[in-house]
Amino acid sequence: MERVIESAVCPFCACLCDDLVITVVNNEIKEIRNACRLGVAKFRACTCTYTHARTQASQRLKCPRVGGRSSSYDDAIAEATEILRRADKPLIYGLCNSSYEAQRVALAIAMRKRGVLDISESICHNILYTGSGLKKYPFYYALLDEIREKANVIVYWGSNPVVSHPRHLSRYSVYPTGRYAMRGVTDREVIAIDVMESELKKHWLLQVKPGDDARIAEILTRLVSVSGDCAAQDIDEDTDIERLKEIAERLKRALYGVIFIGLGVLGVGSEDARHNVDAILALVDALNKGEGRKYVLFPMKGHYNVMGAVQLLMRETGYPFGLDFSRSSTTGTGTGTGSSIFEPGKTTVMDVIEEGEVDAALIVGADPATSFPGDKVKRLAEIPLIVLDPFETPTTSLASIAIPTAITGIEAEGIAYRMDGLPLKLNKIVESEYPSDREVLERIYRALF
Ligand code: SF4
Repeated sequence: MERVIESAVCPFCACLCDDLVITVVNNEIKEIRNACRLGVAKFRACTCTYTHARTQASQRLKCPRVGGRSSSYDDAIAEATEILRRADKPLIYGLCNSSYEAQRVALAIAMRKRGVLDISESICHNILYTGSGLKKYPFYYALLDEIREKANVIVYWGSNPVVSHPRHLSRYSVYPTGRYAMRGVTDREVIAIDVMESELKKHWLLQVKPGDDARIAEILTRLVSVSGDCAAQDIDEDTDIERLKEIAERLKRALYGVIFIGLGVLGVGSEDARHNVDAILALVDALNKGEGRKYVLFPMKGHYNVMGAVQLLMRETGYPFGLDFSRSSTTGTGTGTGSSIFEPGKTTVMDVIEEGEVDAALIVGADPATSFPGDKVKRLAEIPLIVLDPFETPTTSLASIAIPTAITGIEAEGIAYRMDGLPLKLNKIVESEYPSDREVLERIYRALF
C-alpha cells in the first residue's frame, strides 16, 4: 500500500524545511523529495529500503539496556524511575532533538525533582542571552519569511550553511525571489566572513584569521560610519583594507540586510565570543543608522528543536537554559535557597558537573560523551546515567540505563520551532516499534509523582 505525504517537515536542522514529499510503501520510506543530503540521511536512518539506510539502521539502539544487559521497557523505565527517585539533585540535559511536548514533560520532572535542566544552547549560543547582547541592541529575530521577502544583502559570518544547513540559501536567503530581490541571487549581495574558505567564495568571501572577527567588525563599523579613507587610517598593514572597503560599500547598499552568525563567532570561548558579538552588534547598530536601511542579526541555530526548548524555558521560567530548580523556593516541596535559578557560571550543565552537584543524569537525545570535554565526561560517567536516544552513541555506551526511542518527525509526531521561532507540526511518517521520548518521559513522570 502506497502513501504520499506532502509538505512533510524535515527533523534534522533548525531550518525545518516543510516542503518534503515522502512516499511510503508498506510502512517503508521509498522516496524522499526536496530534502538535502542531511535530511535524506536522517530519513534513511529509520526503517527503509535503501542499502545505506540498512547501515544506519544497524546503529539504532535496538532494545532497552539496564547495566549493559538487554531489558524490557517496563524494567528499564522502572529502574530509571528509581534512580531519579533516589537522586537529590538530578541533571536533565539534551532535549534539542525532541518534540516540544517531550521538552514540557522533561521540564516538569526537573521542576518537581528540584534538579537542573539544561540544553545545548548553554554551550553553543549562551553569549546571546548574557551581557549586553539582547538588552542593548534591537536586532533580534526577523522571521525567515520576512528575510526572504526583503533582504538584498546577506552576510554569513562564522557559519557555512552549505555544510550545516544546506537548504537555508535556497529557501530563505540567497536564491529565492523577494520584494527587493525580484531576480533572486542576481539582485542580492552575498558576503561570507569566515576563517575557512567556503563554497560561498564565488560570492564575496573575506577569510579572516582565527580570533580576528571582532577587529574586522570594528573596522567595518568605522568604514560604514564615516568616509572610507578617514576610517582606514592607523589600520595595520596585514589588513586587506581595499577588500574591507568594498565589503563596507556592499553592506551600505542594503535596503534590508541580515547578518547570520554561526559557531565560528559564538562558539569560541566566552570572552572572545562576547567580544565578537559586541563588535558585530555595534556594526549592525552603525548600519541601522543609515536612512532607509534596516539590518537584523540572526543566529544560525543547529538542532532542529533548540528553539522549542528556548521558547518553552523562556515562557515558563523567564530564562533560556541552565536552570537549577534546587535554588527555587516556589517549586516542589523543598525550601530552596532563594537564589536565582539561572546563573551562568553556577547553574549550567558544565558548572554542575564540574562542581559535582548532581547525583544522577537523564540525557535525552544528546551525546555529551562526544561533545563535552573529557574531564566532564569522566564525571558524568561516575553518576547513574539514564539515556533516551534512537541511536547508539558514545553516551549510550556509558549509560547505566539506555532506552531506545522513536525518531520524532519520522516515527512519532510532535511540535518543533524553526530557528526563527515559528512552530511547525512534525508528522509521523512510518509506524515504529519504539515509543517516543515524550511517552517514555511521561511514564517516568507518572511513576515518580
Ligand atoms: S536544510 Fe535542514 S531541515 Fe532542510 S532538508 Fe536540509 S537538513 Fe532538513
